[in-house]
Amino acid sequence: MKNRTPSAEANIKAHEEHLKRRREEAAPQIIRTPAELRALDRDTVIEKPGTVIRTARQAINVAGHWGVGAVLPAVVVATGEHLRACREALEGATVSHTPRARIKHQCDCCHGTIWPGETYHRDITFDAGQVLTWKACAECEDILPEVYWRAGYPDEGVNHDDYYEWAEETDTLESQAYLHRREHGRPEPKGETT
Ligand SMILES: [Zn+2]
Repeated sequence: MKNRTPSAEANIKAHEEHLKRRREEAAPQIIRTPAELRALDRDTVIEKPGTVIRTARQAINVAGHWGVGAVLPAVVVATGEHLRACREALEGATVSHTPRARIKHQCDCCHGTIWPGETYHRDITFDAGQVLTWKACAECEDILPEVYWRAGYPDEGVNHDDYYEWAEETDTLESQAYLHRREHGRPEPKGETT
């Protein structure tokens, strides 16, 4: 038996309707009023063109301080559902960088100063919706594998206490240097920086 097929005309009409729905779904959703803003899922990502991208939650806060003109009109950039899925994908993920410092930072391992112009190590970890940053000076980064090994490869990583324990139990140039910079800080590099 031959399958039923719609007439060419009906086929075209159905296709046009399909395209129209797709266009409507893809059409930008514009938020013009405080009521529309409040009606959004709080994780919805919106942008007032020319300003920063915010979640609806942040926009409501900003509007409370600066007035709705600071955040509206805005356009929906991503749904709350999408943002939550993105956060979930990032959960537990760590992103590592070795940036060059533009301002002073403090090393989380020896508490010494990381000076402007120096290259240091930075980990950004996404944990339970929070963004955790961990910074290490070049010397502390170099000894990390040894400290980590000494601590028994803990899942949660190591911190300055593990560094200290390692340094106390080890007698090498590196461990002495660690104890020295922990006590006296890191001197400002002279001239060329690494
Ligand atoms: Zn350090």
